[in-house]
Amino acid sequence: MRRKLVAGNWKMHGGLARNRDLLDSLVQAMGKGGSADCAVCVPFPYLGQTQELLKSTAIAWGAQTLSEHAQGAYTGEVSAAMLVDFGCRYVLVGHSERRSLYGESNEAVAAKFVAAVKGGVTPILCLGETLEQREGNITEKVIAAQLDAVTQAAGVSGLANAVIAYEPVWAIGTGRTATPQQAQDVHAFIRERLAASDALLAQRMQILYGGSVKPQNAAELFGMADIDGGLIGGASLVAQDFLAICRAAG
Ligand code: PEP
Repeated sequence: MRRKLVAGNWKMHGGLARNRDLLDSLVQAMGKGGSADCAVCVPFPYLGQTQELLKSTAIAWGAQTLSEHAQGAYTGEVSAAMLVDFGCRYVLVGHSERRSLYGESNEAVAAKFVAAVKGGVTPILCLGETLEQREGNITEKVIAAQLDAVTQAAGVSGLANAVIAYEPVWAIGTGRTATPQQAQDVHAFIRERLAASDALLAQRMQILYGGSVKPQNAAELFGMADIDGGLIGGASLVAQDFLAICRAAG
């Protein structure tokens, strides 16, 4: 039985006072842990604060991207080792906003994935199709290309310490969630594609769903056979909503 994981993606939101309120509420409600794992992926400047507030709790934390390089003259970039210095367990890799707004290609995402694995941070690899691609019936082709770029760069064994998040781009921040069956179909496709290379790894892989997950739809999504939790954007900024989603996973 795969353990479920609910990870929050704060995106570029937050502030010291607001973060403290949010994290304090999460710690009070589930600091000792629950039956699902829980994590928050915060903006870089707040990693120190997050580490301080979460360090002796069951809630993990991480970042939202990283450099593909280990160190060097890369102004503005942040390496995997720097994330480890701040206790990060996770890092999002290939979020659709990074792909569409910052031009991260499948190959660039794969290089970041490799950097995370090498540096000892668990990548949460985000995959997903646009509405146009779904309507053009090429969802599986798009997901396969995104996934294959990573397996080619990291090797299948490189995915052993990774998490995958299926996030249809048309569902992110739009209030339009994939139906549980639509999500399940893509999750099953991802698992089958992994199983073609390594059946055990495929069976163990946590595949999260992301895209307008709310307290109202979380339980039904998490009840599907291949959905192992969620990657939560907007609702992760509201303590009561995030807590309700975490409870739905447990
Ligand atoms: C996300 O940012 O990864 C996301 C899924 O956002 P939302 O939950 O707001 O759709």
